[in-house]
Amino acid sequence: MAHIVVLGAGIGGMSVAYELRGTLGKGPAITVVGEGDLFSFTPSNPWVAVGWRKPSDVQIQVPGYLARHDIAFEAIGADKVDPQHDRVLLRDGRHVEYDHLVIATGPRLAFDEVPGLGPHGGFTHSICTTPHATSAWEAYKAFLDDPGPVVVGAAAGASCFGPAYEFAMILDRDLRKRKLRDRVPITYVSPEPYVGHMGLGGVGDSRGLMESEFRQRHIRWIVNARITGVRDGEMDVTEMDEDGQPKKSHALPFRYSMVLPAFTGVDAVRNVEGLCNPRGFVLIDKHQRNPAYPNIHSLGVCVAIPPVEATPVPTGAPKTGFMIESMVTAVAHNIQAELAGRPATAEATWNAICLADMGDTGVAFVALPQIPPRNVTWARVDKWVHLAKIAFEKYFLMKMKSGNTEPAYEKYVLKLLGILRTR
Ligand SMILES: Cc1cc2nc3c(=O)[nH]c(=O)nc-3n(C[C@H](O)[C@H](O)[C@H](O)COP(=O)(O)OP(=O)(O)OC[C@H]3O[C@@H](n4cnc5c(N)ncnc54)[C@H](O)[C@@H]3O)c2cc1C
Repeated sequence: MAHIVVLGAGIGGMSVAYELRGTLGKGPAITVVGEGDLFSFTPSNPWVAVGWRKPSDVQIQVPGYLARHDIAFEAIGADKVDPQHDRVLLRDGRHVEYDHLVIATGPRLAFDEVPGLGPHGGFTHSICTTPHATSAWEAYKAFLDDPGPVVVGAAAGASCFGPAYEFAMILDRDLRKRKLRDRVPITYVSPEPYVGHMGLGGVGDSRGLMESEFRQRHIRWIVNARITGVRDGEMDVTEMDEDGQPKKSHALPFRYSMVLPAFTGVDAVRNVEGLCNPRGFVLIDKHQRNPAYPNIHSLGVCVAIPPVEATPVPTGAPKTGFMIESMVTAVAHNIQAELAGRPATAEATWNAICLADMGDTGVAFVALPQIPPRNVTWARVDKWVHLAKIAFEKYFLMKMKSGNTEPAYEKYVLKLLGILRTR
């Protein structure tokens, strides 16, 4: 009996485990290797960080739900992938062998690339994980007693800008509700060459839309920015010109700060010979398979994709939920084909779709394909985006419990646009 191991129990890993079971039926054994028993719905983390959600609202215990679909679960975490022997070494010294491995480990958060960055020994907060968002909320509560300047943004090399915009706008909304906004100057700091670039070279008129939103909310911004160091209450930022040369230095005071780090691949995969690019992202062919080890498939934030364009300060291209969902379907179909002795033919659609919440309204971006020139490029600010995001959270958590493999993005957001998931 074939054994398929899925590494990572996040949005991509959980989805592919269920979709594999749905596609393959009862036959093959499936094991998910996670880090702890909890699944976190990462897109809700900005709400956790301002107390609009409790951690328990956005997390579920996975082993019981997976077991209902005859999917085994190891919570101990992987120490290393060992592709020479088709096995994954676990952190307690055991190992699991596989016929096919799906790597869906998400990112390693590279706070270490900027001195003083991050919640572990640094001076900025993070919303990248639910535990980070929970400690960001604790710090925010203390900040509310004695408010002052806020810096929100992303470090050089970051590839996930949506949550930084969301957090700046949600913070603005929360502070207005508390009648404290007048005491809190907010600055957005980003390596993007302009506001609304998003690592995508802009989407439709995202530049105009996001600048307008920032202006209306009195959020000032510094772009083409490299955060070079953070001390307690002060951030050093170098603003670059279009050639990537230093243009201006800023020492930004802050009483509260949330900065998204650059991402790399996680340790369990990044040091494996032939598996990853220099940043530790898993190399894949157009069928989501690693060229050196074709029985290793990968999806989600941990895969290597090219940047949309070179920018004066490095930025990466985001891997958002719709793209991940599309990778999930392609991987499941390709493993099914290979187990049946047929070649893998399914390809993901490399499209960028993002719903970003802004507290009481939201902005939707659609870029098809991700790299210009595009067939569809569209951005819109509307209240329905805020409501759609809440509905999507409820739907996705329900899907993670039921094991329903119906594609959520397609069903709820994109059917109207006529976008297909796989080619
Ligand atoms: C704050 C935030 C908000 C976002 N909001 C949106 C949004 O609104 N819409 C959207 O489309 N996209 C959003 N994204 C982007 C993307 O959809 C998410 O990052 C998504 O969680 C990525 O899914 P993933 O499965 O690749 O990684 P993750 O969800 O991060 O899952 C990876 C899992 O692998 C586990 N893991 C790592 N290493 C190991 C190991 N050695 N052994 C075992 N397990 C391991 C991790 O613990 C984790 O559970 C957001 C991203 C962030 C950071």
